Amino acid sequence: MVAVADGLERVRGRVAAACARANRDPTEVELLAITKTVGPARISEAYAAGQRDFGENYVQECLGKVGPLSTLVGLRWSFVGHLQRNKAARVVEFASRVQSVDRLELAVALDRAAAAKGRVLPILIQVAIGGEETKSGVDAASLPDLFDGIEALPNVRVDGLMSIPPPRKDPEQSRLDHRALRTLRDRLEDRARRPLPVLSMGMSGDLDVAIEEGATQVRVGTAIFGERRRG
Ligand SMILES: *Cc1c(COP(=O)(O)O)cnc(C)c1O
Repeated sequence: MVAVADGLERVRGRVAAACARANRDPTEVELLAITKTVGPARISEAYAAGQRDFGENYVQECLGKVGPLSTLVGLRWSFVGHLQRNKAARVVEFASRVQSVDRLELAVALDRAAAAKGRVLPILIQVAIGGEETKSGVDAASLPDLFDGIEALPNVRVDGLMSIPPPRKDPEQSRLDHRALRTLRDRLEDRARRPLPVLSMGMSGDLDVAIEEGATQVRVGTAIFGERRRG
């Protein structure tokens, strides 16, 4: 097993190097540690090494960790997985942000759940980038309509876009996917007439090129915690 602090250190080094290459300020790029299959003990190790933002894919799995880790001050959860409408209320209880909103019905359910909690929920719209193999996310062509629909909801706020492009052998091949998401974001900002500052793109294999193409958040699991056991 990789020592979590070492994995984190290496990833922070990669983030800093990519920022240097792209002439960007490293404080512009947030590291979200993705903890699917990772237990509370190793999440605590990451916290002890200074990590505060964590991302989960499965509601049930995350609920099992939220309680045991609730004493860690300042720890924030993002939800990054496929989400069923009927689980919206559970997610709103623990998530500081939901990244995987790809259809209006889901946004409506989140809006209702957030209203019941008296909060405005920050979200990202997940866009399908990278062609046929990409199953989750709204098509680029349908993005403006979805955005307009969500903008009408008072208790969710779109902060930007996220994508999970298909894995490529050479990370350089992901560059065009990341560039495409950035372009979509830029066009959407023109439409919205307000900033949509967050671009969540890049994972363990391709975070470097994602940062060079403008990512403001990279979502990293394996490179911090080591290989996941295959289910
Ligand atoms: C698992 C996962 C990641 C992290 O993937 P790694 O390749 O392990 O870094 C990032 N984003 C999402 C949505 C994921 O499900």
